[in-house]
Amino acid sequence: QAIFRSNLSHLLELVGSGKESLVFMKKRTKRLTVQWALAAQRLERKLGGVRRDQKQILVHIGFLTEESGDVFSPRVLKGGPLGEMVQWADILAALYVLGHSLRITVSLKELQSNLGVPPGRGNCPLTVPLPFDLIYTDYHGLTQMKQHMGLSFKKYRCRIRVIDTFGTEPAYNHEEYATLHGYRTNWGYWNLNPKQFMTMFPHTPDNSFMGFVSEELNETEKQLIKRNKASNMAVVYGKEPSIWKGQEKFLSTLNKYMEIHGTVFYETQRPPEVPAFVKNHGLLPQPEFQQLLRKAKLFIGFGFPYEGPAPLEAIANGCIFLQSRFSPPHSSLNHEFFRGKPTSREVFSQHPYAENFIGKPHVWTVDYNNSEEFEAAIKVIMRTQVDPYLPYEYTCEGMLERIHAYIQHQDFCVAPGPSPLGSRGPQSPFVLAPNATHLEWARNASVVPGTWPPSYSLRAWLAEAGKTCTDACLDRGLVCEPSFFPFLNSQDAFQKLQVPCDSTESEMNHLYPAFAQPGQECYLQKEPLLFSCAGASTKYRRLCPCRDFRKGQVALCQACL
Ligand code: UDP
Repeated sequence: QAIFRSNLSHLLELVGSGKESLVFMKKRTKRLTVQWALAAQRLERKLGGVRRDQKQILVHIGFLTEESGDVFSPRVLKGGPLGEMVQWADILAALYVLGHSLRITVSLKELQSNLGVPPGRGNCPLTVPLPFDLIYTDYHGLTQMKQHMGLSFKKYRCRIRVIDTFGTEPAYNHEEYATLHGYRTNWGYWNLNPKQFMTMFPHTPDNSFMGFVSEELNETEKQLIKRNKASNMAVVYGKEPSIWKGQEKFLSTLNKYMEIHGTVFYETQRPPEVPAFVKNHGLLPQPEFQQLLRKAKLFIGFGFPYEGPAPLEAIANGCIFLQSRFSPPHSSLNHEFFRGKPTSREVFSQHPYAENFIGKPHVWTVDYNNSEEFEAAIKVIMRTQVDPYLPYEYTCEGMLERIHAYIQHQDFCVAPGPSPLGSRGPQSPFVLAPNATHLEWARNASVVPGTWPPSYSLRAWLAEAGKTCTDACLDRGLVCEPSFFPFLNSQDAFQKLQVPCDSTESEMNHLYPAFAQPGQECYLQKEPLLFSCAGASTKYRRLCPCRDFRKGQVALCQACL
């Protein structure tokens, strides 16, 4: 039985020391202890005594191992990417607070000894029993495990969860398909269940959304912040000098109205990219960075870094976040940063989550090429009053709730049966909705046992040609739920939706099940690993499984807890 924990001092010992990255993570966890403890209390009350088994969990942070080059630790003090460190610190805290038993490894040697693999025996055909129910790692760690676990890797890989900032889409994950159809990248082709990849933001519903937390303010703090805001103070997003390159025009426009602050790392001298009129604080410790945000009115992004934690922290501290719209959108096809990443996602602004899930008045996404629009936005922002805001899914309680639900319900070790509908055969338990636009679970049909989210939250649409299922569901105020694809993958579903299939074929294609209008042909999916919310073609109208979601917790459906 797992018991909620509110004292994190043992966790801090488990994390170990000796690396700047670990020091950064521990400081963060220590600072957030009270928030975690409060969140644990609230979630415990909310769950009302539901039984939770204590899991044996290994957390292997691959990118921090010397064997993968540990490029991050030396950069922690120099403004290198801290987002990953923020996320790992929060994952550890959440697992610990939920009461699970943790082992943490940041070297290959520790990994091997915890896995019970004798050193040097990695490739022998041994299946050593795995002493862990769950392993959280990253792509680096995954490679190390594959090399050192021998046959156990195959047997136990269903217990692995991969922390994967930008996500891995099914087409890139399926080795054979990726190779045949040009989706091969540096990272993909692991043939895991796509839900085993856990992202930093809810990018694609094909993966699980892991996230991180931002500090939550109480009412008194919020009022105080609002009173002390300097309406003419702006902070620039980004700790590395390179992001300031080429931004002189915007900076001088902004400087007409506001005092500009930066937190760019420097050793001895002001970086030449940062103009003299900017007040540069150098890289600040996290708490001091928060203090700066509390004072500032505007947090402004110049296009890079993509999708980090800082804009959420700024909005939580009452700033308005101003960012540029990307037109055309950035993606692995046209931008160096995303090249080789196993996703075809198109990124329409620096921080799509801020744009789509938060939006105005907190987030302004404007075309920076249009200098009038840019200048007008600054003027309005200076006059706009906003309250500090933090979406529930980025609070400690929200993160605990989500990870609790995953641990409780996600099981990738049970082999999927030939049809989740079992003895019901091809007859599916859903019906055409009264307005005839979509399918829903028949009121009198029983729930399919073992499915999560519960099958009755399924609602299925035939998307417009050229639409992804992700977008087709969002357009209807719902979210795509890939675990429901197997229910839809049948002639019966097409029939019930009154789709005029002249013929039906079953093939491997990440866009299937779908209807191709020209030949009136219906296609079913042959390979369950290729069920994908992402992906679109003007040739097809895709059959899309959607579900509802909780306000502020998109990962969970209404009945998901
Ligand atoms: N941060 C910091 N000092 C600073 C600026 C930022 O500690 O001077 C922290 C910030 O609080 C955030 C983290 O750096 O939690 C990551 O920020 P960012 O969004 O820039 O993401 P990254 O590109 O580092 O992953």
